[in-house]
Amino acid sequence: MAEELALGLMTGLHGEPYDALEAVRELGIPTVQASYPAHLDNDEGVLKVREASDRTGVEITTVFCGFPGESYADIPTVRATVGLVPEATRAERVGRISEIAAFAQKLHVWRIGAHIGFVPEEESDPQYAAIVGVVQGICDELKDRGQVFALETGQETAAALRGFIDAVGRDNLKVNFDPANMILYGNDEPIPAMDVLGPWIDGVHCKDGSWPTAPDQLGEEKPLGEGDVNIAAWIEKLISIGYRGPLTIEREISGEQQRQDIIKGKQVIEEILKKNRVR
Ligand code: MG
Repeated sequence: MAEELALGLMTGLHGEPYDALEAVRELGIPTVQASYPAHLDNDEGVLKVREASDRTGVEITTVFCGFPGESYADIPTVRATVGLVPEATRAERVGRISEIAAFAQKLHVWRIGAHIGFVPEEESDPQYAAIVGVVQGICDELKDRGQVFALETGQETAAALRGFIDAVGRDNLKVNFDPANMILYGNDEPIPAMDVLGPWIDGVHCKDGSWPTAPDQLGEEKPLGEGDVNIAAWIEKLISIGYRGPLTIEREISGEQQRQDIIKGKQVIEEILKKNRVR
């Protein structure tokens, strides 16, 4: 088990898992949330991931679900393609979550994360009860595996997410709090949102971004500390509400610039922790 408020990185396990986790270890980051690596979902792949984690000492805290056909191009596209909300792909995606959870169990990973999409804000929407029912089924299956299901924030207000969690009514339904998403989708202020969602937050993405500047467009994701989140105040608030899980950096670009931004993001977080005498 990683120490309290250990650093983490949201990453893929592309190619050889050892190389992927060794690159994280070299950054001095002891945990990852990994997006589901379909190419490793077989007996040989499971052994490789377990060995990579053992050899590098990098702990996988979460396997994150993704679904073929999703696009984050703009808000209407997200609404139409992401998560469990689009009706046409719902059953198939529930099946995929089940496969991902089985894979994670073989890795001894007890937390499954997902964007479930734009849940209707109105409980009277006919789709609302259907999505609640689907998520209840997922939670029940994961509970049998000893796992929790963590909903990524951002595509709804904190109050709407809280209402949805209450409607589902399962104790293994949690929140993966991404403060940048609330801003990027123009939905809510992330710091006050923690008063609404605090007890359910069991993981976070340390990500930054700016508010949208045009209708239907997402805001712009930024390196940590350069967006509108106010990352220092947000981490201080996390600590003050008792959160002690990993601080998982997410930077949704690729290549050398991503690596540089992650290194810088790590320094930003370390300074905040030091200032707050966490370590
Ligand atoms: Mg995120």
